[in-house]
Amino acid sequence: MSSRPYAGRHRPVRKGVRRLPATLTGGFLLPTAAAATLVLTATGATVAESRVPSVALTGNQAAFVRTAADTQAAEARVDDAQATERRSQAQLQAAAILGRQQEKQRVARDKARKALAKKKAEAALAATAHKWVMPVHGATFTSGFKMRWGAMHTGNDLACPTGTPISAMSSGEVIFTGWMGGGGNTTKIRYWDGTVSFYEHQSRIIAKVGQKVAPGDIVGYVGNTGHSFGSHLHLEIHPDGGGPIDPHPWMTAHKLMYSGNG
Ligand SMILES: [Zn+2]
Repeated sequence: MSSRPYAGRHRPVRKGVRRLPATLTGGFLLPTAAAATLVLTATGATVAESRVPSVALTGNQAAFVRTAADTQAAEARVDDAQATERRSQAQLQAAAILGRQQEKQRVARDKARKALAKKKAEAALAATAHKWVMPVHGATFTSGFKMRWGAMHTGNDLACPTGTPISAMSSGEVIFTGWMGGGGNTTKIRYWDGTVSFYEHQSRIIAKVGQKVAPGDIVGYVGNTGHSFGSHLHLEIHPDGGGPIDPHPWMTAHKLMYSGNG
């Protein structure tokens, strides 16, 4: 081995200046990340694979391309995230609209249920506490609401034997019992709707003032007391406790029918 003395010396290092490799100086230079992105976007493949297959990238260039690709991927992820966020917002809005619709439907269903319950309760009351029944059974209608013997006859006469039970016509409260002039033994009942009935000429009163009554409860018995010619019930109807009206159409309206021709 010849022993030529080492004559050369190292090229001085110019600090701060990085020289590009020769393979990348002939007009092929990736100046910016954007350029790298463009290349990648246009080809859909890496630079090394298709665009410049003959160019061997240095470590720095490869890193540069990788960084650009990473940046693009990161941007794509941001786009994805934003799209996901928009979808989430849209889903939330749709859910809110659906929620409001469902709430409206729930309220409507509640309302319908309550209305039905109220209707059922009213029907139950109408079938029991609010039903109307005849005060006497088997009676004959003998005298109507009209001028009679020079005076107004303010009720209906229902002829039946003395001792026939007289019933409350619906639920209510007894507000008067006692002797009432020509009416003889009289009972007044105020019903749930405000109507007041008078029962006159009774042979016997068994109800007490303040007593609560249900439809059909017996409150007294038919008689011939007071200004009366023959055993009968004199029935008066006073809407809201006011003046008397003709009982017959009122009775018909309450599906209370009786025979005879008063
Ligand atoms: Zn009468």
